[in-house]
Amino acid sequence: MNVKPILASNCLVFLPSRLLTLLAILTLSVSFSAVGQQPGADGMGDALYPQLGNGGYDVRHYTIGLNYEPELNRIRATTVISAVATHALSRFNLDFYGLTITLLSVNEVAAALDRIGQELIISPAESIAAGEPFSVTVKYSGIPAPVEDPAVPWTKLGWHEYAEGAIATTNEPSGAMNWFPSNNHPLDKATYTFRITVPVGLTAAANGVLTQTIDNGDDTSTYVWQMRDPMSSYLATVVIGDFTVERDDTGPVPIRNYLPRDLSDDAKEALAKTQDMMAWMIDKIGPYPFEAYGVVVVPGFRSALENQTLSTFSPHMLLPSIIMHELVHQWFGNSVSPAGWQDIWLNEGFATYFEWLYAAETTGSPGIESLIPDLSPALKQPPGSVEADALFGISVYYRGALTLSALRAEVGDEVFFDILREYYQRYAYSVASTADFIAAAEDVSGRELDALFDAWLYSEEMPDLPQSPEHTTQ
Ligand SMILES: [Zn+2]
Repeated sequence: MNVKPILASNCLVFLPSRLLTLLAILTLSVSFSAVGQQPGADGMGDALYPQLGNGGYDVRHYTIGLNYEPELNRIRATTVISAVATHALSRFNLDFYGLTITLLSVNEVAAALDRIGQELIISPAESIAAGEPFSVTVKYSGIPAPVEDPAVPWTKLGWHEYAEGAIATTNEPSGAMNWFPSNNHPLDKATYTFRITVPVGLTAAANGVLTQTIDNGDDTSTYVWQMRDPMSSYLATVVIGDFTVERDDTGPVPIRNYLPRDLSDDAKEALAKTQDMMAWMIDKIGPYPFEAYGVVVVPGFRSALENQTLSTFSPHMLLPSIIMHELVHQWFGNSVSPAGWQDIWLNEGFATYFEWLYAAETTGSPGIESLIPDLSPALKQPPGSVEADALFGISVYYRGALTLSALRAEVGDEVFFDILREYYQRYAYSVASTADFIAAAEDVSGRELDALFDAWLYSEEMPDLPQSPEHTTQ
């Protein structure tokens, strides 16, 4: 790319023979410098979302500095990405949707930029060698626009204002790119620093732990949050609002909940069970993976979402079963994340299974198997091979959970929980595929289980649940 300006400005002054020589040298040097260099891929090969994520580098850390102006509903932000090239890079992509970019640099040198849809195509002034650490700085502003995604047509995906001054983010699966540029696929986990500036009177929460609150002396405050464990971009969150913070340090993990001032007593009572649920999950699977946990309750928000260390809730969804479901995701989904979006049953099937098991063990309510007659028609969709528009369909949750029930009936209680613990330990802070889970189940049980998983995850007809004397919901 250095070739063009030299020829354009200087070539006319050369004699023809010198020009030919120069052209030969330039051609050679271009061929030489191109050896081993290639553009980073514009996707990570996801079966459902081929454009999500990018190839050629591995992000290690995101620093997101973001200023929210509620009167304009606007953000002004600078995201700095620290990454390492996995091959020699002539250019590479980030995923970013909407918003206006005012500065883009690589290693603090301005870089050329193309935007095609959600792809930021970045050509650094100097190419990047294989294995070389590099940084990308993107400065941008505007009003984030919802991302269209066939998996969640009912949701404003990404950064969204739910009520006056009440901001929450719903990234899963593709929405992160409406508020920060990223390698937007679970395969590339990284640590995060958030520096969120809001007017006095509003509070900003994000993933991880609050390490600093800075009074800027201009009627704004900056909240600094650190997520020091690896996190997929779909689990990153910033939430802004007028909250009270309630802490519970009576159990194994510090819990801090960000709650609206008018939250009902029933909802608070349901949340008070979180430490018991935490202890129950730790007993079943192993230590909680992160430094802290909590929920944030956002007026106008309409669902519940397991953002890493800080689940986001509608005020109307603070029910014990849903509080448990989002907590379980901290192990299954957040620490062990899906290698591809078609592996989503590893998130939702597991969270649903433990939600029902906890209810059965603590309140004696019937097990998940009792649902089969009511749900049968919806359970024909095989949960292991869903399309994007069925990513969060009933079958992923319930037939996914029933797959675990069937496995438990097949191998017995002791081996079943050994399988889950082994699978969790193998892939904690990383990603796993359905094949990885099946391999763990076969390794631990010493049995060939393909037929069981084929029938439950990939066949049109849902099999009958095997009955076993060992299969109880104690
Ligand atoms: Zn879930």
